[in-house]
Amino acid sequence: MELWFTEKHTPHVNFSIKVDKQLYSGQSEFQRIDVFESREFGRILALDGYLMLTEKDEFIYHEMITHVPMAVIPDAKKILIIGGGDGGTAREILRYKSVESIDLVDIDEEVAEVCKKYIPQTADSLNDPRVNCYFEDGLKYIRHHENEYDLIIVDSTDPFGPGEGLFTKEFYGNCFKALKETGIMVNQHESPFYPADAYAMQRAHKRIFDSFPISRIYQAHIPTYPSGHWLFGFASKIHHPILGANWKKWKALNIKTRYYNPKLHVGSFALPNYVEEIVREV
Ligand code: SAM
Repeated sequence: MELWFTEKHTPHVNFSIKVDKQLYSGQSEFQRIDVFESREFGRILALDGYLMLTEKDEFIYHEMITHVPMAVIPDAKKILIIGGGDGGTAREILRYKSVESIDLVDIDEEVAEVCKKYIPQTADSLNDPRVNCYFEDGLKYIRHHENEYDLIIVDSTDPFGPGEGLFTKEFYGNCFKALKETGIMVNQHESPFYPADAYAMQRAHKRIFDSFPISRIYQAHIPTYPSGHWLFGFASKIHHPILGANWKKWKALNIKTRYYNPKLHVGSFALPNYVEEIVREV
């Protein structure tokens, strides 16, 4: 019998990947965690039935959420990742020698444990001595930090379930406070394509826009995410995401990437008209 992983993208659209077998299934205190093995996409991590990453295309998401802000502040030393328990974002950040420490705050320790066992491609990074893992709610963690981080990356689940608080005005305001004067916050910003997702992304954008003086959206093509068209938010206190990029320094680091490059960095901020309209309505 054929086995398929299927995610409901809308009440009328399903996305399916044929899988060879299920490697893990368990219910944590916060969510259901599943890992599948597939021929086309390698291993797949799903939380509550929603696809979080596949081994084949995770590089796109993790490079774009990391190198876009790091090209602007390539000397960043202290990084906070909220969510990101699969380790993919930490892996990319660890490629910068300037980084002294990464505080990774994921609500669910079991995600990290399962990924260490089944998806070492991303989760090996969590064993690095520069990574400090805290297993608690990011919404609560951020309340107690001020003027501390160069970069905050919000690598969360979607705005429902445990991730809901990470899309609130309170959270973004506290991220602003936790950043240094030159700080940047980047977040996964949902898809603009299907109306329910577009509404969530518009609401999040408005809250970030109201919390930071500089706030822009950029995009990437991620084949296994709903519609394949994914957005990220870039918010900062002083840095413009394109004019502020330090290409000389970034290129000198000689970091080999498979998706990200400086031309794509610039182009990723050029949005299709229909997305501009959603953003302009804010
Ligand atoms: N790349 C993925 C995506 O957009 O589909 C997201 C990565 S996934 C590893 C997100 C992580 O956020 C999960 O491990 C989940 O446990 C964590 N998370 C959800 N709500 C959270 C919260 N309130 N505080 C901290 N981490 C949270």
